Formats: sequence, structure tokens, C-alpha cells
Amino acid sequence: MLDNLPKKTSIIKTKEKWKVSASTNAKNCKNYIRELVDNLVLEPNPEKQVIALSLGDPTVYGNLQTANEVVEAVLDTVRDGACNGYVPCLGLPKARKAVAKYLSRDNVIYEEKDIILCSGCSHSLELCITVLADPKKGHNILIPKPGFPLYRTLAENLGVTVKMYNLLPEANWEIDLNHMESQIDEDTAAIIINNPSNPCGSIFDYNHLKDILDVAEKYKIPIIADEIYERLVFPGNVFVSATSVSSQVPMLVCGGLAKRFLVPGWRMGWIAIHDPIGAFENEIRTGLCSLSQKIIGSNTIVQGALPRILECTPQTFHDGLIDTLYENARIAYKYLSTVKGLEPFMPQGTMYMMVKIQMKNFPQFSTGLELMQKMMEEQSVFCLPGDAFGIPGYMRLVITIPKELIEEACKRITEFCGKYFMEVQ
Ligand SMILES: *Cc1c(COP(=O)(O)O)cnc(C)c1O
Repeated sequence: MLDNLPKKTSIIKTKEKWKVSASTNAKNCKNYIRELVDNLVLEPNPEKQVIALSLGDPTVYGNLQTANEVVEAVLDTVRDGACNGYVPCLGLPKARKAVAKYLSRDNVIYEEKDIILCSGCSHSLELCITVLADPKKGHNILIPKPGFPLYRTLAENLGVTVKMYNLLPEANWEIDLNHMESQIDEDTAAIIINNPSNPCGSIFDYNHLKDILDVAEKYKIPIIADEIYERLVFPGNVFVSATSVSSQVPMLVCGGLAKRFLVPGWRMGWIAIHDPIGAFENEIRTGLCSLSQKIIGSNTIVQGALPRILECTPQTFHDGLIDTLYENARIAYKYLSTVKGLEPFMPQGTMYMMVKIQMKNFPQFSTGLELMQKMMEEQSVFCLPGDAFGIPGYMRLVITIPKELIEEACKRITEFCGKYFMEVQ
């Protein structure tokens, strides 16, 4: 039919050659870790097996596997064939209900309507930033420093400015509340907090959370709480969700299966809406619902399996994971505490350990990046430099790798630091 229409004369010039360029949006999408790592010259010592203490993926070495119950739940969902179609964009009702139940604790009760299933916690974060921060109004959001670099990637790609508030290494990586308050302005649309923290491995206690929420309350700024490491805490510590602190602050809590269930590739995340005074009632719930329609919901197989994953995974699985991580953390801490020029921070949870590098004792290197590069070259050990999280002069170790490799890596770090350490006055 269209062929019969009279040809419209084109006013644009025909072109000789193809030139397809990427949009400004795509060009402005930055992965800060990749950018940093790609610019490093990383040539391992061919004599030594590379030990990567840099990848925040607990599955890479194969020593940590998800629970059988989790695998069975997914296999049965696939075989059953009832979850192959589209489901509601916010998620299957029974899966949302299961997440609501899983997260309801410490006097905080969620219902099905409070849960939105997303394609990984990264996607949850993106929806939360998108719904709260408006680039057309010049909004900014506050993010932690050091912190997970994805916050900045997501915000800036949306045209939302980020402002960083400091965490205090000497105060167990608590938020510098005065600094946080000083970063707030009239255009601040949300504050992201991350507890337990990647990269610090630290946990906020009830009182600190209360102080944070008091600041948010004073300026009426909603919180985006990244709690992907919820309950991943070592003996002697407790995880307190920001939502269980009594306050009027509306919050969007982001979480998912990736870390606690050891399946980051399954891309199952969620948003839990905690709204004690109904501030999100009119627009934010609707906005999140509309935004979830962009990708027509998350993976339906994992959604179908979710009730069983959350209800039937035995506590022994969770305890076992914590035992392993805790043991690795203690090994790394013990080794590195004896290394002159390094100051490890014993994590309270998560899968990471931060180590301060006393750069003045390593005058051969002008930056931590250089030191890290040389360590790869001589010892084939690679950790992410603190620069990736906004804090130069530190390195972050991933403690999910097998115990033997943690020990071997620590030996090599010890040898390396011993070689370059210089006493200074
Ligand atoms: C791993 C991680 C995420 C992302 O989790 P996915 O579910 O894999 O998208 C979010 N926040 C922090 C702090 C993380 O470490």
C-alpha cells in the first residue's frame, strides 16, 4: 500500500558513507571502576597465579555456591512452565507477598503493595533515583564517600548531580553528619545510604541511623537505603534496617538476592516502600509503577521461585556463608595487621575489607594506584584501589575467595610491602 503513495521529496541530503554515532546519553554513561582499571597497566608476574581480590562477585572461584533449595525452586519453576509469560510489571503477587514477609521484622510490616520486583538491586536503585530526582528541576542526590560507584553512574546518566558526604574511617566509617548536612541544599531530592557498607564492611548501629534520619527529617528529604548486604553481618554485630528506626522519614529500601543468596547473575532485586506518613502515597508509588513498565518487570522464573527461595532456604546456609566470610576476614585481618605501612579495618559484615596504605611509608610510589600496579606486576595480586570508591590511599579486598588463596594473597602482600616499606620520621 505504502508503495502507491506519492513519493515525498526528501529535503535531507543523501550520504555517501555510514556514520552512526552514539548518543550523548550513552557517551556519558560511565563505569568508574572500569574506567580506572582500564587505565592501569596490569601485567601480572607470569611466574605466579593471579589472585583477584577485586571482583565483587562471590561466585567467581566456585567455592561459594547457593543453597540446593534455591536451585530446586528454580528448576521446578522452569519445569512447571507456569512462569514463561509476562507477569504484572511490579511482579507476581505471590512473589511480592513473599518479599514483604521476608523483609517484615523489627516492628516493620510490609504488604504486597509495598514491594516492587526489579532486575537486580542495581535496577532498584535506578528506579528510586529516577522517581525522586528530577534533572529538569536541577535536582541533586547525596551519596556516600567512599561508596559504591554505581550511584554516581546512575544519577549522572539521568542528568542528576551527585554531592558526596564523607564517611569517617576513624569512627567506624560512620557518616560525618555535619558534612552531610552541609551538602544538603534546596535541590536535594534524596539521600542514599548504604548499610552494611560496600566498600567499608561497616555497619551502622541504631543510634547512628537515628541521627541520620533526624537530618533527613529536618530538611524533609527522603532516603534511598541500599540494604543489599542486609543480615550479612559477623558474630557480635546486628543488622538494623533504617526502616526499623522510629521516624517519619519516607524511605525506599533496595535489596535483592545477589549477595545473601549468592546469585548475582540471576538479576533479582526489589524496592520496599516504607512510608510512615504517606508522603509517597500520591505520586511516588504511581511513578514507580510507571517506571517498572519500561522493562515489563523482572525475570519471571526467579519470581516464580522466589517464595520458596525466601521461605525454604535453611538458616544453616546463611550461617555457613557468614562463617566462611568471617573466617576469611579474620585471616586477612590477622596477616595484614602485622604488615608495616598497612592498616586493615576488620569488617563487621559484607564481603569486603578496607585497608589503609600509609603512603608516606612507600615513598617509591606517588599514589596508591601505582603501588597496586606494581603489586600486580611482582606478586600477581590485584585489589581495587580506594580511588574506585572515591578514597585514594586505601585498597579494598574481596574476602569471598577460597581461604588458601586469601592466605597466599596476604603472604604476597606482606612480602611486597616488606620490600618497599621505608621508615619515616
Ligand atoms: C552488589 C551491589 C549492588 C547490586 O546488586 P545487583 O542485585 O547485582 O544489581 C547494589 N549495591 C551495592 C552496595 C552492591 O555492593
